[in-house]
Order: sequence, then structure tokens, then C-alpha cells
Amino acid sequence: MKYSYEQLEQWDKQYVWHPFTQMKQYVNERPLIIERGKGSYLYDVNGRRYLDGYASLWVNVHGHNDPELNAALREQLENIAHSTLLGSANVPSILLAKTLISYWPGMAKVFYSDTGAAAVEIALKIAYQYWKNIDPVKYAKKNKFVSLKEAYHGDTVGAVSVGGMATFHRIFAPLLFERIEVPSPYVYRMEKYGSEQDVVRYCLNELERVLASQHEHIAAVIVEPLVQGAAGIIVHPRGFLKGVEALCRQYGVLLICDEVAVGFGRTGTMFACEQEKVAPDLVCLGKGITGGYLPLAATLVTEEVYAAFLGEADEDKTFYHGHTYTGNQLTCSVALKNIELIEQRGLISSVQQKARRLAERLDALYEIPIVGDIRQKGLMCGIEIVKDRRTKEVFPRAAMVEHRIVLEARQRGLIIRPLGPVLTFIPVLSMSEAEMDEAVRILFDSIACLYEQVRMERL
Ligand SMILES: *Cc1c(COP(=O)(O)O)cnc(C)c1O
Repeated sequence: MKYSYEQLEQWDKQYVWHPFTQMKQYVNERPLIIERGKGSYLYDVNGRRYLDGYASLWVNVHGHNDPELNAALREQLENIAHSTLLGSANVPSILLAKTLISYWPGMAKVFYSDTGAAAVEIALKIAYQYWKNIDPVKYAKKNKFVSLKEAYHGDTVGAVSVGGMATFHRIFAPLLFERIEVPSPYVYRMEKYGSEQDVVRYCLNELERVLASQHEHIAAVIVEPLVQGAAGIIVHPRGFLKGVEALCRQYGVLLICDEVAVGFGRTGTMFACEQEKVAPDLVCLGKGITGGYLPLAATLVTEEVYAAFLGEADEDKTFYHGHTYTGNQLTCSVALKNIELIEQRGLISSVQQKARRLAERLDALYEIPIVGDIRQKGLMCGIEIVKDRRTKEVFPRAAMVEHRIVLEARQRGLIIRPLGPVLTFIPVLSMSEAEMDEAVRILFDSIACLYEQVRMERL
């Protein structure tokens, strides 16, 4: 290796500002500096290996350094890396759009971008302009968006506007457009509303109340279908998503499904909407779309939405939006190969099978008294850590219990991340059963270790 760990550490701390990171704390810790990856493992510059239990931020599908994805990328590179979609087309972006639409019978068109937040931003702008294009007078007031409590849709100002996570979003409030918040079925913390289905009913009633009184002011409802990821893996009970769809239809507002986290097999089906047979008006895709190789995102829309943007040159119905690298050939070609391999390798059914086994293994974590709730959909898992299982009180933030569990796990060879009091285990989708068993063993030991520590500290 060209540079020592110590040299890289120094430059990292001197020059790099890490996302979502309190740098004052970061510079006091030894950074993890990744050098390479293979399959389910990441290797740091010192040659230590770690199971990738966060799929390199929920993106990795087939494992790292996949020979076939590498080959697809090399092959494309021999032709061209990039040309623009503004006024011209390219082969991989055409083929990928056709492939994506084949999974979404209700959808007609694909609009490319490069991050999930941009895909959301685009969906919001399209939804807003859709109403103005159809009838600027009748729909003049349809300017607001509805989203769920604790919603997360990305970090650009538009995406933050529909976000509901106080810690991330509160500071930006004066910059944001108006959002109407409705409750989401966070069953673990809503026991006062009754059973799972009571919670769903309550949430849908609240949404209906908002739509009934304000639908004339509402352009769209945006939801993360089935699982609210960044909120702490809040798994919605069956029927919620379908109920949201029905209310959107009833009250004439568009439905945007943000599949950025849940798409591409993560929840046990290619896309989450399939599980409740929901057909949104707009869909946002990102994260797993390139198998975790390159940044790419897409917004899919129905023919009805698309048609509203057709007009003469002087009508101003055009969607004036686009990013420089839209439809980039390298990203689109690796995305195409990713999807082809998902089919070829039977990844979806293997995810379902592995998810069942994982659920049994994770159950053992309840032996540790600070494990409050374990939530899982497919290979998306959240373990909520509590100080008191009965009251569900969480540990004080300053004690950084969850962060310390994550560091323990890293010592033992597993990389995971906390989201508030929730530990997330979101493995590379191709992770083997044996590797996943090992990951759960490490999770158990790391949480048990912190349990002992907090008892000693009398937290
Ligand atoms: C990650 C995420 C986004 C944002 O995607 P970026 O690529 O980070 O911009 C949007 N929506 C959901 C549901 C996500 O999980």
C-alpha cells in the first residue's frame, strides 16, 4: 500500500467532512478506512475484514467486487463513459428505462437522476406541476404535500420539506415549503391505540380527516412503502399502504411511493408496492438500483401524469428540470446488469428464504433485557434498544449506548449503523446464511457486552 493507515487517518481528519457525522466526536475515534471489498466483506487498509451489515448504506445487492458487474462496467467503459440526455439519447439509458417499466405495469416513463433525494425532488416537482398543467385555475391551490410522521425522503431542501425527522429537519424549517404531517403506524410505540389493526385504522382515519378537509390544497401524498427506513425500520402492518392508496384515489390526490430504500429485493419482493398490489402515480428508485456500484436514481410516472406535460413549444408545459449526469451510461449499464443478475441468480426467492431464517436467529436477541423490539421486513432489520423494556424508555443520548454497540460489533468484525436508539442490520442482499448467522452472533455478543457495561455504569 502506498500510504500508511496513520497518514490516511491524519488526512481524513484534516480534509474530509463526513456526512451525518458530528466531526468533533469523529476526530477522537480511529476511522475505519476501507480499501477493498469482496462478496459480503469489506477490508480496511490494515487488512482486517468486516461483514457488511449495512450493505454500504443499503445499496449493495450482489456483494462487492462482483465479476459480472465489473465486466459490464468495463465493457461500457470501452465504448463511452458519458454523453448527455439533453437533446440526445444513449443505449444503456434506453434499455434500462424499458426494463424498469417492465416491472411497473402502471408506469409509462422514466426520468433519471443521480441520488434518491433528487428522485424525490423530481417527483414532488412533477406532482406539483401536473395539477398546474391540467388546469392552472381549478388547481391553483393544490400546492401542499402530505407525508408521514418520521418520514425520510433525502436531504435536499425539497426532500427535507416532506421529511418528518425532527433531529435532521427541524433546523431547516424556515427554508421549507408546507407539509402536512399524518401519523404512521409505529406499532411498538402506539400501544395505547390498541392492536396492530387498530393502529392502522387510527392512522388511516387521520389521513382521511386531512384529505377530506384539505384535498383541494394537496398535490400529493408521499410514503415509503411498507418500511420507513431512516426513521428506525418502522415496519407498517399489512393493509396500511393499500389504505393510503385508496384514500388518495378517493380524494383526488397523487400518490408518490418512495422505493429508494425498499426497492430491488430488499423487502423480499422486487419492489415493496407489489406486496399490497399498490399502483402509485409516481415512484422513486435509487440505492440498490446499481447493485451498490454507482450513484443513479429514477422517478417513474404513469401515462396520465406524463401526458399532462405534453404541449406546444409556447405552452410552457415542459418539465424544466435535469441534472448534468442524467442517464449516464456507466451507471445505467451497471444497473441493467444488476437487474439481469437479480433474475438470473434467483435473488428474490433467496432473500425470502434467508429472511425467514434470519427472523428465527434474531429472536434470540430478546434474551438481552435492553432489546425492546425487533422489526424486520425481508433483509431490512431494526433492533430497538431500550433502558427499560416495560416503559420502553430509551437511554440518554449522551451515553451513546447504540454507538458503543456499533463499535463493539466492528471490533468483532461486523459493520452496522445506529439510527437513534435503533440498531439497523441491512446486510448485502447476497449474504450467505452462514455469514448472516455469524453476523447475528456478533450482534448478540455486542449488545450483551453493552448490557453488562450499562449495568456497571448504573445508567
Ligand atoms: C436514502 C433515502 C433517500 C435519499 O437517497 P440519497 O441517495 O441518499 O439521496 C430517499 N428516500 C429514502 C426512503 C431513502 O432511504
